[in-house]
Amino acid sequence: MRPLIAGNWKMHGTLREAARLAEGVREGVKGADLLVCPPAVHLHPVAVVLLGSPVAVGAQDCHAAAKGAHTGDLSAEMVRDVGATHVILGHSERRANHGETDADVRAKAEAALAAGLIPIVCVGETEAERLAGEAEAVVTKQLAGSLPDGFAAAGGIVAYEPVWAIGTGRTPTEAEVAAIHGTMRQSLVGRFGEKAQGTRLLYGGSVKPGNAAGIFALANVDGALVGGASLVAADFLAIAQAF
Ligand code: PEP
Repeated sequence: MRPLIAGNWKMHGTLREAARLAEGVREGVKGADLLVCPPAVHLHPVAVVLLGSPVAVGAQDCHAAAKGAHTGDLSAEMVRDVGATHVILGHSERRANHGETDADVRAKAEAALAAGLIPIVCVGETEAERLAGEAEAVVTKQLAGSLPDGFAAAGGIVAYEPVWAIGTGRTPTEAEVAAIHGTMRQSLVGRFGEKAQGTRLLYGGSVKPGNAAGIFALANVDGALVGGASLVAADFLAIAQAF
């Protein structure tokens, strides 16, 4: 399947910097789909910069409700309306900083699908869970709780992001990544059927130009969710070219 390299810009940059970064990746790469996920206030201007480009735009979150009294929140329809085609959901920073549960993530993913957005649902164990030998069980449980019915059929995407690898420069071994991705594939096929063979499984956590090729060579790794390295256009493109 065609890989996806998604950049999570998190809460970084001014409008000018976001526009410049979007200009820097605008041409995309031959061998992979690219997606950039700017802060919500930069979604529309970045989408304008990327008009006519193969690079897609995604949001970093959305609310589960279609509208209502939710001060400070954005609905799936709102982010789609300003140019997003994808939305990252259940990132570990949202699970940790905003107390999002699997049920919350599932409700948001349902809202995203209803609005015509492709959800990228993040799962991943903490360091304590990995050390306790619980990584596969934790990820399997998060998948079961966070993905709505119809997820695979609608083209939903999963990102495996070990919490301890995010922004730390540390990564699991290639064997550990392959093991989790294989487990995720099995669990998705078990629930959604053969359709889930086509579900893109991204790896995220300290992906850099130097380690991307090794990770991308693994079975069931269909791309990456990139944080820090997606803030430098040349690095983001180099990662995408490593596929
Ligand atoms: C992320 O937060 O989604 C991420 C993968 O960050 P980094 O690449 O900086 O580890």
